[in-house]
Amino acid sequence: MYLHIERIKDEPLEIEFEEKPESFKVLAEMIKQGACRFSAPITTNIKANRISDMIEVEGTLITKVYLSCSRCLNEYETTLNSHFNLTYVNQLPTEPEDVEPEEIEISAQDMGLIYFRGEEINLRDGIQEQAVMAFPIRPLCRENCKGLCAACGADLNQGDCGCDLTPISNKFAALKDLKLDE
Ligand SMILES: [Zn+2]
Ligand SMILES: [Zn+2]
Repeated sequence: MYLHIERIKDEPLEIEFEEKPESFKVLAEMIKQGACRFSAPITTNIKANRISDMIEVEGTLITKVYLSCSRCLNEYETTLNSHFNLTYVNQLPTEPEDVEPEEIEISAQDMGLIYFRGEEINLRDGIQEQAVMAFPIRPLCRENCKGLCAACGADLNQGDCGCDLTPISNKFAALKDLKLDE
């Protein structure tokens, strides 16, 4: 997933990448641990612009995965989407003598910039980060998933299991009914 700098002319350079999810280290680990199952490749479309020493990359990422619902634990398929901007900055061949290279690197990171050297940019890490961030924090098979019954473990989306889960004493409900004499 390389972006060759010399190919970026006056017009933005557009490239489409289609990669196997397993080819990304972090995603391969997620698959190995059973966190998800991919049903489509990672498709990334990028548009690269050169602005002096900086390369601005605007992109979209799309893929499909099977996730486990955080409420009912059922596996469901969903589309992951991401729209992102990454800014790469060329490491100057000659650094100012009074500034340590590490200091330059830290300040670049602070500004959300990613360093690259030479004539090409490896987009793999940047794209992998976007793919990971596209995952929902609490996956839900549907917005109103009813989850599992706390008593018998039945999937409540399949219907009522018949368990009585009314709390034995609900103090707040009791307070609501309380009539105070003036
Ligand atoms: Zn669910
Ligand atoms: Zn139940």
